[in-house]
Amino acid sequence: MSILSPLLRAARRKSPWFYTVNAGSCNGCDIEVGAGLCPRYDPEQFGGLRQGSPKHADILIVTGPITLRTKQALVDIYAQMPSPKVVVAVGSCPATGNVFTGSPSVCAPLESLIPVDVYVPGCPPRPQDILRGLKQAAQLLAEKEA
Ligand code: SF4
Repeated sequence: MSILSPLLRAARRKSPWFYTVNAGSCNGCDIEVGAGLCPRYDPEQFGGLRQGSPKHADILIVTGPITLRTKQALVDIYAQMPSPKVVVAVGSCPATGNVFTGSPSVCAPLESLIPVDVYVPGCPPRPQDILRGLKQAAQLLAEKEA
């Protein structure tokens, strides 16, 4: 059960905050995430804001195939986020490993490490698709809060 006050829970429903992790991506997805979070696509239309700390974030955005070097940091970041939380896997890499499948330094899929709520497929996906995934994540977060 959440220990957050009803007022804070209502605020989280209206304004989900994002934290992004590059878990070994080629940076293609990160550029599209950056575009999707900018005013042109406007995640603030549903209260979405990028956050600098996982301790203040509701939605974790992950790109990349999860390398051995990033694996533990990713698990630690997920653990630091308050519950309820939602994870969005952006691009084909966190879902399947994509072009990095078979590499000895890759641990994909992401769901083998932490629960994934929303997948945004593509290599890389378009900013519009990322925004759609984030809206879905915000809806899921509101349902979990309720
Ligand atoms: S899905 Fe494609 S663009 Fe995104 S990190 Fe993987 S290889 Fe790069």
